[in-house]
Amino acid sequence: MRSLFLLAILLFKQPAAAQVEKLAVNAGFIIRHVNVIPITKDTLLKNQIVIITNNTVVWIGPDNSNNSKLKTKAKVIDGTNKFLMPGMADMHAHFPPYKDLKNYFTLNLLAGVTSIRSMRGDLEHLKIKVDNALPQLHLYLSSPPITKDLSIDKKTADSIVVVSKSSGFNFLKVLSIKDSASFLNLADACRSYQFTFCGHGLSNISMETLLKSGYNSIEHLTGYAENLKKGESYVGELIKLTAKNKVYNCATEDYFEIGYNMQDISTLKKRNGLQYMHDSIIARWDKEITEDQAKIGEKKLKEQRDYYTKYRLVKNKILVSLTKSGAPLLIGPDAGGAYAVPGFAIQEEMKHHVNAGLTNYQILRMATINAAMYINKENNGSVEKGKEANLILLGANPLSDLNNLNSIEGVFINSGYKTIQELEAGLK
Ligand SMILES: [Zn+2]
Repeated sequence: MRSLFLLAILLFKQPAAAQVEKLAVNAGFIIRHVNVIPITKDTLLKNQIVIITNNTVVWIGPDNSNNSKLKTKAKVIDGTNKFLMPGMADMHAHFPPYKDLKNYFTLNLLAGVTSIRSMRGDLEHLKIKVDNALPQLHLYLSSPPITKDLSIDKKTADSIVVVSKSSGFNFLKVLSIKDSASFLNLADACRSYQFTFCGHGLSNISMETLLKSGYNSIEHLTGYAENLKKGESYVGELIKLTAKNKVYNCATEDYFEIGYNMQDISTLKKRNGLQYMHDSIIARWDKEITEDQAKIGEKKLKEQRDYYTKYRLVKNKILVSLTKSGAPLLIGPDAGGAYAVPGFAIQEEMKHHVNAGLTNYQILRMATINAAMYINKENNGSVEKGKEANLILLGANPLSDLNNLNSIEGVFINSGYKTIQELEAGLK
């Protein structure tokens, strides 16, 4: 019986070994003995061989002595005690002025962020994708935002959507809206032209209307806590409707954390990524915060913090309810304020989600596979055979501790591999 079992293993193994040998010949990269975080399941695949050809993962399997003498021209990377996971997506970002974009994108790559959803569109953003001087990340671009200043009839709605789509923007973002007719006209136009429609929860549009309109993401977790005055069960129904219609939420908790002055400078100084920030920027941030807090005054600051501590608890409960109900979530810090380091701010956002009660795995899914599903790039967001090699290599396991995202050693993107040192050299 035992020999039959061994024979079965041999029969099973040899074709695999032969296939690995064959795939290795023309591979671009081979990562040996690496621990893979596939993200499709809450699991770690230990000691794997991963073969990448033409920007695609063509093989993942156990690494063993059968693979010892591979003939290949590929760059072979020793992944012993290292961890391979999908590149992350910051799903609520704001680009800096064009001249600062090179550093901005490089900082994102240094933090393991390979995809960015830009939430405040500008015509000059359309140049980025063809600008060879810029590191090319996967970008998902908002058109210039819709605001309440604009009254939108059917014809205007159609032309906004047609022009946005044909210019190369990926979606329409609503910051605020004049009235429900404007909102419904835009929703209709986006549906007709199959253009993504999303934005803030809107004080003058009911959440029910919003959740049934085709709006596919809500920013800042707006619209739920505001409806608690109608009762918890009403909000429960809204959460169910969110899940049913697959409307994503992106909480951007770190934006509020900084906006409400929830952390002292001494705590902010412990953030990851600050080593890449110029002293003059840090000095400017310190000045901004100190002046702001002085203006508010100690008493008011305490009141403000107490208020937000309570409000945050409410929002955390909503976040957990959304997760339990199966509503999809995205992650993005809405960085732009003091101490929100581009790319690295996603790690701060993750800490808030841990505090809310989500698991590391749930949070990593938000930053990878959920984002890929949201932007209809299902060939991204996981480490699987046949998927794009949009990956990061880490020195420690983020499933056990999300702070380990700070142990990044290199990034696979656009058929290439850049080490941290190479990326750092590209910073100004
Ligand atoms: Zn924003």
